[in-house]
Amino acid sequence: MKVSGQWLERAETQKVCSALRDAGWQALPVGGCVRNALLGVPVADVDIATDARPETVSDLAKKAGFKVVPTGIEHGTVTVIAGGVPYEITTFRRDVETDGRRAVVAFSDRLEDDAARRDFTMNALYALPDGTVIDPLGGIADLKARRVRFVGDAGTRIREDYLRILRFFRFHAWYGDSGAGLDADGLAACAELSAGIETLSSERLGAEMRKLLAAADPAPAVAAMAQAGVLRQVLPGADHRALAPLVHLEEGAGPRWLRRLVLLGAQDAAGLLRLSRAQAKALAAFTNAAQVGGNAAVLGWQLGAESAADAVLARAAMTGAAPAADWQEEIARGAAVRFPVKAADLPGLQGAALGKRLKALQSRWLDSGLRLTKADLLD
Ligand code: ATP
Ligand code: MG
Repeated sequence: MKVSGQWLERAETQKVCSALRDAGWQALPVGGCVRNALLGVPVADVDIATDARPETVSDLAKKAGFKVVPTGIEHGTVTVIAGGVPYEITTFRRDVETDGRRAVVAFSDRLEDDAARRDFTMNALYALPDGTVIDPLGGIADLKARRVRFVGDAGTRIREDYLRILRFFRFHAWYGDSGAGLDADGLAACAELSAGIETLSSERLGAEMRKLLAAADPAPAVAAMAQAGVLRQVLPGADHRALAPLVHLEEGAGPRWLRRLVLLGAQDAAGLLRLSRAQAKALAAFTNAAQVGGNAAVLGWQLGAESAADAVLARAAMTGAAPAADWQEEIARGAAVRFPVKAADLPGLQGAALGKRLKALQSRWLDSGLRLTKADLLD
């Protein structure tokens, strides 16, 4: 089986790999790039596995004229920047000891060791320079069946790193067969060991949850998470039931993870998932808007088009009532208009009195669905 694609054929990828190969080392694109190329979906970034040690990778890359960033050199990863494109080059590793959060790794000369410490068979795929895929663990068959399967014993692998529970659901949402459901052994192990999620940092949880919720349809995976008792470990108080209706309603609106997160209605999602300040603010604003509802144009004016659309869709999914037929036009109208009255239109008023008057006029204007004109308001 062979893969191809611009990510593999482009000059930078070939040059980076050649820098290692010409010195006698292996250089194999691995993981997401090979998996996605086999699936025919876009490849985000190219990770490379090698038997060269990190210092050697660094030396050879510098000699070839690339910029080198020692991102995680103690874990074996060197980032090489070629033509502006970052490549993460990681030395083959094998696990020697784990504490459930970080693995203590030793470098290895064998690709098989490296494959055995990856999470899922579909992520343990490697490519040779001509695109030939090396598949030591049957990942291609699992990929064809759209089956996310742990490498080795699911329970053992989860105890090494509890984040793998979330990754199991994330990869299922993106690449799994939603009809066939999740791999039974994997699911059972996730349910049994869900308490271990407690040990994970909010950064790691947040990164995985954002990726999960950004899938085209995360609803079946999130429902399975809820059933397995995993969802409440991550987000206490979350309710997944409005998620499927939302995904149905948002057709064409694009898979925004923040909109999906609103629907889960968890307490303190912003803190638990370590959202950025801007993300937390948007989450609060349209959680509120989704709860109280209101005129689509007014929401567009208050929140901007994107968040207003999120709020309208979220509200419809929560209440089961379809939004008004013209909701998109109304949001666009609201996002484009400005409150027509300015302080200069109210001569004779100053300070608190002016503020009060402007506020009153604005509230009349909002009540009119942003339709009253300046003349109407000053009349
Ligand atoms: P994406 O398209 O989301 O980036 P990816 O497969 O590249 O998908 P990453 O999270 O970037 O996913 O991880 C890169 C590779 O590293 C994976 O394909 C997998 O082989 C391995 N990996 C990452 N995280 C873990 C983990 N917690 N346990 C085991 N292997 C992991
Ligand atoms: Mg990746």
